[in-house]
Amino acid sequence: MRVILLGPPGSGKGTVGDIIEHVYGLPRIATGDLLRRAVQAQTPLGRRAAAFMGRGGLVPDDLVVALVRERLDAGDAQGGYVLDGFPRTIAQAHSLEALDPRQREVAIDIEADEATVVRRLETRRLCPRCTAVYNLRSRPPRRDDVCDDDEEKLIQRDDDRPDIVQKRLRVYHQQTEPLIGYYRAKGILHRVAGSGTVDETFAQIRLILDRVLAGTGKEQTAR
Ligand code: AMP
Repeated sequence: MRVILLGPPGSGKGTVGDIIEHVYGLPRIATGDLLRRAVQAQTPLGRRAAAFMGRGGLVPDDLVVALVRERLDAGDAQGGYVLDGFPRTIAQAHSLEALDPRQREVAIDIEADEATVVRRLETRRLCPRCTAVYNLRSRPPRRDDVCDDDEEKLIQRDDDRPDIVQKRLRVYHQQTEPLIGYYRAKGILHRVAGSGTVDETFAQIRLILDRVLAGTGKEQTAR
């Protein structure tokens, strides 16, 4: 099964993606993480992607699709996976279907209002080593500014700064939001409320995934 997580930056895709990975054993594939790793390693692809990411725009489809193709070739993705941050354009959705046509698909749109996501992104912190994500308000590290797992100093993502966040939200509305209609037309769209706690969001997703796995998942709103 392929679970596609949709929703604006800060809606909780990464956090619930991690939980889905643990509960359902589906590896989480996050193109943002793959790209940040490529940038850090200064690969040719990373060097090309960096300028787009720093400005809050989308990295060109061909670069992102190449990364996803490589990742899907890994053995752990054969039985299904959770996609976080991909596809972000209709063209990427078409590429995904061509890359791996066998998977049953479920798309989950995590809805969160703008004030909530802006607040979350302002207080989001990241471990640069293991990519664990914290939130200074709702999910603080045990020790100030330090990762619980490897004690690395937490950082704020450059693109979580207010002006870039506004740009990312505009890009989301223009280029990614149309995917909601795309997956609705395919009959695989589910929508959940993402402005509450992580537990509240995951509880809705769990209902959907359990129903889909049991073979009764029709398009629905879990509210
Ligand atoms: P994220 O960690 O998902 O917020 O992604 C961080 C940045 O990586 C985005 O603002 C984009 O610049 C880039 N990015 C991540 N995924 C994609 C994608 N599927 N298509 C294009 N750019 C992407």
